[in-house]
Amino acid sequence: MDHDQIETSGQVVIVGAGVAGLFCALKLAPRPVTLISATPLGEEAFGATMQADIAAAVAPGDSPESHAADMIAAGGGLVDEDAARALARDAAAAIEDLLRLGLAFDRDHKGALATSRAAAHSARRILSVRGDFTGQAIVAALVQAVRATPSIRLIEGHVADALLTGNGAVRGLQLRRTDDPAAAAVLLAAPAVVLATGGIGHLFAATTNPDHANGIGLAIAARAGAVIADPEFVQFHPTAMMTGHDPAPVVSESLRGLGAILINRRGQRFMLPRHPLVDLAPRDTVARGIMAEIMAGRGAFLDARDVLDEDVAERYPVLHRACVAAGLDPTRQPIPVAPAAHFHMGGIAVDARGRTSIEGLWAAGEVAATATDGANHIAGNALLAALVFAGRIAEDLSGRTFAGAPGLHDVAFAAPAGADATPSERTLREIMTSQVGVIREEERLAEAIVAIARMERDGGSPNVRNMASAALLIATAAWSRRESRGAHCRADCPAENPSFAQRTMTTLAAAREIADDLAARPTARQSRPLSA
Ligand SMILES: Cc1cc2nc3c(=O)[nH]c(=O)nc-3n(C[C@H](O)[C@H](O)[C@H](O)COP(=O)(O)OP(=O)(O)OC[C@H]3O[C@@H](n4cnc5c(N)ncnc54)[C@H](O)[C@@H]3O)c2cc1C
Repeated sequence: MDHDQIETSGQVVIVGAGVAGLFCALKLAPRPVTLISATPLGEEAFGATMQADIAAAVAPGDSPESHAADMIAAGGGLVDEDAARALARDAAAAIEDLLRLGLAFDRDHKGALATSRAAAHSARRILSVRGDFTGQAIVAALVQAVRATPSIRLIEGHVADALLTGNGAVRGLQLRRTDDPAAAAVLLAAPAVVLATGGIGHLFAATTNPDHANGIGLAIAARAGAVIADPEFVQFHPTAMMTGHDPAPVVSESLRGLGAILINRRGQRFMLPRHPLVDLAPRDTVARGIMAEIMAGRGAFLDARDVLDEDVAERYPVLHRACVAAGLDPTRQPIPVAPAAHFHMGGIAVDARGRTSIEGLWAAGEVAATATDGANHIAGNALLAALVFAGRIAEDLSGRTFAGAPGLHDVAFAAPAGADATPSERTLREIMTSQVGVIREEERLAEAIVAIARMERDGGSPNVRNMASAALLIATAAWSRRESRGAHCRADCPAENPSFAQRTMTTLAAAREIADDLAARPTARQSRPLSA
């Protein structure tokens, strides 16, 4: 098929203009790079990064060793301890980089960087900019710097829907216009590609993630044969607001810290018998408690009536806006909540330099699995790892030269004529939330896998096919891990099992094989999504 082809003359191409992609492009300057941005740069409401704070052991008395120990404790025995220590050690330099870019982190009265505490951190280690504007401020500073860097060539308004390889090495990318997925593909020759496409939350109907966090970056690497690590480990935020917003706004944990309580429709405090810390139990425990109430038909609500007063708009602007849009007054009514897909610990397997299993392919940010999260993740580490690994990739690339890539062939997604993408995407997301969500179980995972594999094969559009590939990796790994560990909870195998005390390393071919076996089993029934 004839296609437009863009030459990069042996340049590095970075896919994704979130914190990881932007930072990597800047770190590579003055080396010429091409940066693919799905939207006009900076016009994405700052993507998943918007509400994020960043962790770094910079306060007096804190240390990288202590930060690493907290990562290791949270990771369910699957964290690579050397990787965690190296990430914690590199944090201070990443913060220095941000300060050099002009980031105005909050400071204490002595002028030192102000730090606050977050769950699972044993020290005050969270840095913020004007309270909860940190992520937004970081992306704004990076965008400004990228715009002012002549060596960065921007291709805006395009998404990558396939990674092109030859002889086991990267050759380029297949791009499509974001606003016209039906338009002809554009091929981009590239001997070195950095994927920085973010997470997978949007694969689930209930998520806190924006719609671009749809797993397509993960899928295109997997379709090209990359090894994928730990895909089953998805962190669910326990209290996302269920008022019909997509993504669902997060109801801050701090409200529970101030005394807001979780109740069901009957007014019962269902966390009382579940954990001594009741509503302040660890995230996973609260998410499972809420999910159990929802599945039993009793619903779950955060009752913050005794905590919020007239200044709610000022103190909790995101919550307030979402409540107003839903016609809800949180000072008078309990807020309906449910767990929602929030962060992917898994991703494209990378080593300490961000290299993947495919020659010429690197990955940074949430799309990468860096071995520093294991089975669970601690607050503020996502932005930190995104910056640190993006920087290490730039270092790994420095001094390397690449020849121009040879002619390219497109990757066809033979779609059935007239297929309508929207219902399939919705179905996929509903299956993921109801069958591959907070509480998993073998038979329902098997049903989901068979349905998702069908979409991967026959789905209506490249987007749906790619989303189904990412979903298939998550579902098959969740089915294979017959235990509960970290954020992965199996109702049929509720305990940790020492024989599963290792990371998952898988491929799309292995996932498809599991799906084929399950489809051939007499017990594999048609998928039945419960509800969105
Ligand atoms: C509500 C919320 C709160 C959070 N709070 C915190 C926190 O306090 N601290 C913390 O550390 N982390 C937090 N996180 C997680 C953190 O924000 C993300 O992990 C981080 O922003 C990921 O950065 P990234 O650069 O990998 O991806 P993103 O910032 O998501 O950027 C990815 C970019 O890639 C683009 N893209 C995607 N697919 C393609 C494609 N196929 N082709 C081209 N472009 C593509 C997207 O459009 C996007 O611009 C939070 C996340 C959410 C949703």
